[in-house]
Amino acid sequence: MGAPEAFTATTDVGHFIGGQRFAGSSGRQQAVYNPSTGRVARQVALASADEVAAAVAVAKAAFPAWSQTPPIRRARVLNNFLQLLNQHRDTLAAMISAEHGKVFTDAQGEVSRGIDIVEFACGAPQLLKGDFTDQVSTGIDNWTLRQPLGVVAGVTPFNFPCMVPLWMFPLALATGNAFILKPSERDPSPSLFMAELLKEAGLPDGVFNVVQGDKIAVDALLTHPDVKALSFVGSTPIAQYIYETGAQHGKRVQALGGAKNHMVVMPDADIEQAVDALIGSAYGSAGERCMAISVAVLVGDVADKIVPKLAERARALKVANPMDLAAEMGPIVTREAKQRIEGYIATGIEEGAKLVVDGRGLTVPGLEDGFFTGGTLFDHVTPAMRIYKEEIFGPVLSCVRAHDFAEAVKLVNDHEYGNGVSCFTSDGSIAREFSRRVQVGMVGINVPIPVPMAWHGFGGWKRSLFGDMHAYGEEGVRFYTKQKSVMQRWSESIGKGAEFAFPVSK
Ligand code: NAD
Repeated sequence: MGAPEAFTATTDVGHFIGGQRFAGSSGRQQAVYNPSTGRVARQVALASADEVAAAVAVAKAAFPAWSQTPPIRRARVLNNFLQLLNQHRDTLAAMISAEHGKVFTDAQGEVSRGIDIVEFACGAPQLLKGDFTDQVSTGIDNWTLRQPLGVVAGVTPFNFPCMVPLWMFPLALATGNAFILKPSERDPSPSLFMAELLKEAGLPDGVFNVVQGDKIAVDALLTHPDVKALSFVGSTPIAQYIYETGAQHGKRVQALGGAKNHMVVMPDADIEQAVDALIGSAYGSAGERCMAISVAVLVGDVADKIVPKLAERARALKVANPMDLAAEMGPIVTREAKQRIEGYIATGIEEGAKLVVDGRGLTVPGLEDGFFTGGTLFDHVTPAMRIYKEEIFGPVLSCVRAHDFAEAVKLVNDHEYGNGVSCFTSDGSIAREFSRRVQVGMVGINVPIPVPMAWHGFGGWKRSLFGDMHAYGEEGVRFYTKQKSVMQRWSESIGKGAEFAFPVSK
């Protein structure tokens, strides 16, 4: 593969409402940085509550016709969108690398995993097929159908500016809803680009809208009576706020939050495979993944074997311009995020953890102002330390030592987060017990980042998810639809006279 083309547009980013780009009229905007250079690349508009209300009104007006469009015709629009996404996947990946900073091949992976969901959503006619029971009582049939909610919204984080919106809107649209997306203000361009591809795919104007913004836009969506459901992915404090506020305003809410994912390495594990898995999952995307492994739980004598190998590999990580195809790690998304990560490294040292590799102070030649930091490795981390308890969301791996399997499982289960977890072992019964006992939503056995496929659904447990339905998969279909049960009989089977006893099957 030749060098990919970088995304260098300087055009400011606005909203997409009713099938049109709209610069925004709130007078508020925010800088979008290129984290590799540390310079402002463009400005993003921040919507006012009135602008959000205008988008909701447009979506509400588009809903009746779209919801009445047969599912197979809605699926055909998504199928056209799928072709366009495939055609433009590298453009999208370059946009992601330019605003987020993740390496190009990682961004390509993000786009591909998003495309999986569109492929799943193209099965809308099958997904919406109801259940039918003939003859629940003599002459009476009963069936269920799933109907769309109306206007639904999605609020998404910076770390997957293409894939996480794609966790939401393909299924929401396939099931007949109108959608409003509020992307992260740090990397807003991919959403706008996808809005244009949807229009080109034949989606009627107003069915999909993008409002850029911050808390003001989110609060306007959360409190608007015409927004029936809201999907959120982001940090735990905001997820909890979204869940509680949305529920208070009568909305259906799924709010996916932060994480602190452990990887347990058992003494019988293949050490080389475990090292590869830890390096890729702790430092890939500079640790800015909700499924990143940030804690290695090293059981028995594993620590002495593995820590030196991890240190060697962490020191050798190739941190570079994300468009360099040899790069393993790009910059951190913002200067503030880099400072927060480096602040945690200082805290870890103060708390008494052993700093084995210090990623601070790294500069990339030619990109001296970029928000780069290297891979950091701590050993002898304990559950009492802040670097163990809190989500750092950066390239910092903490090694914790456990005497045995039971202690390792207890550590995982005692943590407030429960997004993803992994166990490396060569013992099938340990693997089985681990997956059964562990209090975490997504489990990998010798798989470091067990992100479920499009038809399985994604969601953590404990403080990693507020609400009861996971994103995408069949739970996604249920989230964006309400079930209706219909019971029917015709005059021949209708007896005469009022019945006062509760109806039973006859
Ligand atoms: P964030 O919580 O700061 O922002 C997420 C979204 O919420 C953005 O669109 C932002 O504009 C909005 N927002 C921010 N502050 C708000 C406020 N006070 N009121 C209302 N809305 C607000 O998260 P982030 O930094 O963009 O993303 C990283 C976080 O997302 C990490 O915690 C990561 O673990 C989490 N994440 C979770 C999953 C998951 O599936 N569980 C997936 C990806 C990311």
